[in-house]
Amino acid sequence: MKIGFIGLGNMGAPMAANLAAAGHAVTGFDLAAPCPDGVQMAKSAADCASGQDVVITMLPNGAILRSVASEIIPAMQAGAGFVDCSTVDVESARAVATDAEVAGLLPVDAPVSGGVGGASGGTLTFMAGGSSAAFAKADPLFDIMGQKAVHCGGSGAGQSAKICNNMILGITMIGTCEAFALADKLGLDRQKMFDVVSTSSGFSWSMNAYCPAPGVGPTSPADNDYKPGFAAELMLKDLRLSQQAAEAVNADTPLGQHAADLYKAFVEDEDGLGKDFSAMLPRFEGKERG
Ligand code: NAD
Repeated sequence: MKIGFIGLGNMGAPMAANLAAAGHAVTGFDLAAPCPDGVQMAKSAADCASGQDVVITMLPNGAILRSVASEIIPAMQAGAGFVDCSTVDVESARAVATDAEVAGLLPVDAPVSGGVGGASGGTLTFMAGGSSAAFAKADPLFDIMGQKAVHCGGSGAGQSAKICNNMILGITMIGTCEAFALADKLGLDRQKMFDVVSTSSGFSWSMNAYCPAPGVGPTSPADNDYKPGFAAELMLKDLRLSQQAAEAVNADTPLGQHAADLYKAFVEDEDGLGKDFSAMLPRFEGKERG
């Protein structure tokens, strides 16, 4: 396929490189990032999108997605797929999909889980929203960039699944970190704490696969001085998106709101900016009840 790829940052660059390595003709565009292996660079987003079978975007937020979409939709050929893999608000995803459909394109919102490691290794999970025809067009590319793609429903369903998943992740990471900090103060050995919880009803991905305690469980950012990984500010972004969505549909999400407040304090008022989101553990360790 002829593929345009816009947004070649930490995630987009390895995803584009994997598509090129699989034999697709990939043209890229980014305002700042260097050219990934096997990709030809275009001079503008519109040039990058013009004449492609599928255009993929991997951008920081909904406002940037909307602005890039307004540039590329008029340049794309009818019947082309428009696959947005960024994590953005549900409203922006739906608005962009509507504009794309009016122009005769096949839009899919397809945010990912799996982080930079999954992007490099081609093992991402895609959660997709859009028509069956749009999903079918994008699916062979999901196979290259990832290990699983779930068609969640119509436009916006992929973003909805993503923010619900990450709301659970933020809450369970905080719960795991505060439990470790409590266990420390109760005099429990961290390895024993892991051995019990990881095989008991307190287990979760945060404990079992991404343990926030250094030297315990599988290797994780905690073992690398809490270098991300998945940065605390990205978790804050996703938690805010979950609360924006909850507000829009009048859903009661008290723990999601509390998790967003804690990550906001951590990122904006404490020293969390630039640290992995599991660095909530040293944050709790340094605090007292109050
Ligand atoms: P990043 O900041 O590394 O990359 C974004 C890229 O977009 C940058 O290279 C930037 O120059 C480019 N860009 C910004 N505005 C542009 C424009 N108008 N035209 C062209 N390029 C433009 O971010 P990332 O970590 O690659 O994340 C991308 C998206 O994936 C985000 O929505 C993020 O929430 C989501 N995500 C990230 C991870 C992760 O672990 N990093 C995991 C899952 C999802």
